[in-house]
Amino acid sequence: MKPILQNLVEMTGHRDHLRLEVSVLSTLQSLSSIVQVRSLEVFTRDGELFMRPRTWMDNGQWMSAESEAATDPQAQAIAQIPALHECIESRAAHAIAMLGKGRHCMWLPVWMQDKVTTCLEVIQSRPFSSQKIDIITSVFHVYKNYQSLLDYSERDALTGLFNRKTFDEQFSRFTSPEASERQPIPSDSETIDDAAHQWLAVVDIDHFKQVNDRFGHLYGDEVLILVANILRSSFRSHDRIFRFGGEEFVVLLRSTSLSTAHKVFNRFRKNVEDYYFPQVGQVTVSVGFVSTANGSPVEILGQADQALYFAKENGRNQVRFYDDLVAEGHLQAKVSNDDVELF
Ligand code: GH3
Ligand code: MG
Ligand code: MG
Repeated sequence: MKPILQNLVEMTGHRDHLRLEVSVLSTLQSLSSIVQVRSLEVFTRDGELFMRPRTWMDNGQWMSAESEAATDPQAQAIAQIPALHECIESRAAHAIAMLGKGRHCMWLPVWMQDKVTTCLEVIQSRPFSSQKIDIITSVFHVYKNYQSLLDYSERDALTGLFNRKTFDEQFSRFTSPEASERQPIPSDSETIDDAAHQWLAVVDIDHFKQVNDRFGHLYGDEVLILVANILRSSFRSHDRIFRFGGEEFVVLLRSTSLSTAHKVFNRFRKNVEDYYFPQVGQVTVSVGFVSTANGSPVEILGQADQALYFAKENGRNQVRFYDDLVAEGHLQAKVSNDDVELF
């Protein structure tokens, strides 16, 4: 029992989801007869449930689909795994099935409100005893409770997006090379070479004060929730979306070319423009974006902000790229020394 308790202490010492996940997987892996342990990402595509590995062990090293080094793992339709499918349909706590000789599999879905987003998979070489099931489900419950606590502190209560505090933590890690040496799992691949392909956008709702003034604060809040939903559906799971404050959001776009960044941000802007907001009607957003390789977090944010304000002053409902504005002579590239003011 002692190693399990030690593992639990280790597990709850993390304030990072991915490392918490690695920690729970290591704990399960250390139990007897375990052949393989993975976490699976569960998602809906065209109304059908799919899963693909998110964290797994490869050659004695934990690998994560979230790190850019990993090739995108193959997705599998959950309908092809009847035991798991049935378990999710009936909201059962876990499912067990025999996959083949000497491969007994247990799945533990993680429910977030009314959706499964993650599922742990434990494979062992012999049938699961009831005592083993108890141990696994107990570890799983500690993991789930701790994860929801983490989630609560990282997210904004209104929209469910990551909050400003989480941005500050994630972004400095995103841009700091020594941090990636210290934390191989979450930031392995986030070397400075990749940074040229990461983009930061500041998104601000146009004339949002008018929405509040004309329809009231509750409708204003509803618009914030709906814009957050459009943000979530417009970007990939690799990308990170934050509510920065009020009606301002920040998007970190991973590993993509400049032309794709333009396309993706514009597609999001158009998605908002085309959406009918109940009662309120049309709402638009302005976006300013910049490469994350252009300086310190404060400078990068400042540049995206400058591009955003240019968009605001020049008609709103548009996406502006900082470097273009500098090249066109609309903005002056200056290293800002007004850090205090920006933060
Ligand atoms: P612009 O196009 O220049 O961005 O104009 P704007 O009206 O959107 O900008 P401004 O910054 O003047 O207004 C932002 C408003 O957002 C003011 C504030 O009352 C409102 N706001 C901030 N947080 C919340 C919130 O959580 N809920 C609601 N309903 N309103 C909020
Ligand atoms: Mg605004
Ligand atoms: Mg604003």
